[in-house]
Amino acid sequence: MNEKINKIVEELKKELEIEGIIKVHLKNYKSKIASVSLDKKIIRINKKIIDDEILLKEVLYHELLHIKLNTKWHTPEFIKKCDH
Ligand SMILES: [Zn+2]
Repeated sequence: MNEKINKIVEELKKELEIEGIIKVHLKNYKSKIASVSLDKKIIRINKKIIDDEILLKEVLYHELLHIKLNTKWHTPEFIKKCDH
């Protein structure tokens, strides 16, 4: 995994109190920014956004929150916690 991404993921995992291994895969998506597999704990990120560190952090936070709350949906709790 990309070292910069790994560092951000570890920081956000601490912030969100997420345990265990989460993998991040870089993808060549045409328009999608990211996706998450809740079972496999894999976050897939569009390669195009990884140079924008602020966006990257927001996207990783968002996807980690899906893992934390174990939901694919943007529930009221999700939206509340998104506003960090
Ligand atoms: Zn989402």
